Amino acid sequence: MKVQPTERQHAFAARARQFAAEHVAPRAAAIDEQGAFPRDLIAQAGTLGLMGVTLPEAWGGAGEDDVAYVLALEAVAHASATVAVILSVNNSLVAETLLRHGTDAQRDQWLRRLARGEAIGAFALSEEQAGSDAANQQTTATADGVGYRLRGSKVWVANAEAADVAIVFAATRPDLRARGISAFLLPMDAPGLVRRNRTDSLGVRGLGCMDLRLDDVFVDASQLIGQPGQGFGIAMEALDGGRVAIAAQALGVGEAALQEALGYAKRRVAFGQPIAQYQAIQFMLADMATGLEAARMLTWQAATTRARGLRGTLEASMAKLAASEAAHAAADRAMQILASEGYRRGSTVERLFRDVRATEIYQGTSEVQRMIIADAVLG
Ligand SMILES: Cc1cc2nc3c(=O)[nH]c(=O)nc-3n(C[C@H](O)[C@H](O)[C@H](O)COP(=O)(O)OP(=O)(O)OC[C@H]3O[C@@H](n4cnc5c(N)ncnc54)[C@H](O)[C@@H]3O)c2cc1C
Repeated sequence: MKVQPTERQHAFAARARQFAAEHVAPRAAAIDEQGAFPRDLIAQAGTLGLMGVTLPEAWGGAGEDDVAYVLALEAVAHASATVAVILSVNNSLVAETLLRHGTDAQRDQWLRRLARGEAIGAFALSEEQAGSDAANQQTTATADGVGYRLRGSKVWVANAEAADVAIVFAATRPDLRARGISAFLLPMDAPGLVRRNRTDSLGVRGLGCMDLRLDDVFVDASQLIGQPGQGFGIAMEALDGGRVAIAAQALGVGEAALQEALGYAKRRVAFGQPIAQYQAIQFMLADMATGLEAARMLTWQAATTRARGLRGTLEASMAKLAASEAAHAAADRAMQILASEGYRRGSTVERLFRDVRATEIYQGTSEVQRMIIADAVLG
């Protein structure tokens, strides 16, 4: 498969890179330090098409394809992992899901605003007892007249602090587990929906992650996404796209770590010469570059598969697994090369080291990706 991006894809990524360099990078340390959701940057990203990259222009999107999307996300993540995740949740998990499964009325109400960054979307699947085992939903949706009553709690909802709308998953038939889960479109100001416990985290600290409590929240049946019982499948399909985006995010962080390490290795003198002269350091740099480039090829391949209209579940899991582990290794090696300078609180490498870790956890842990890949290879 040919995975070389086209000029158009590169041109879109170049605009994202310019935005990231001029507007995101100067703010990255403060976003991390203060754990502040960068609302204004997200609005600005929206005007550049970065909140709805693969959405058709008719729906307010940039009308680009998945390859342009991963190139752009890598560029943004190079500047700030946090900003890249915020964009990926809105793009892959919320907007794409509404485009594929929403009704005309749902799309009409939200899609253009989401794509332009005038509204922010969140995706509420995880619960205390439903992380990797996402089918173990304890949140219930009980039929009530013309709609449903939602009761339960969600955890780790990225973007929640600033979101205007969320896709919320709940069991309409708890006895059926995965086949009894439904997806609902909920405005964040719905009566009974309470945001609470802003999550403090090791990295990607400006995500606005919060828990949600659903106290008898009434949802009209018109706000179901897909049919009752289709929610789990809709979530897994969304995560296929999301995982390619997280792969791109990981690559951006890993590449930033490599750049930091290269610069430092050339500047830092030990035993009378730059440490870049030592083979021990050169080999670390070589491994970092090779791991990231291999993962980039898998990521582009996964994006190309999606751009061809295929779902690409296996490709997405392979890309996420490879990219998150390569980026983690790169951040770790960068820390070793910068040594005490990297370990210093507030150094760029210290932030990258913390930010990258989540890419092996969210949207399916590395173990979950290996389970999906193993299923496929075992046939
Ligand atoms: C920064 C951040 C943002 C997030 N944003 C969102 C969001 O926007 N929306 C949302 O819904 N969720 C979100 N999450 C939640 C995330 O998706 C879950 O944390 C993730 O799916 C893992 O679930 P868990 O933490 O409950 O771990 P668990 O599922 O409890 O797993 C614990 C450990 O056991 C392993 N494990 C579990 N089952 C198996 C098995 N069968 N075989 C082998 N190993 C296994 C896991 O890989 C892991 O190592 C976010 C999480 C983080 C950290």
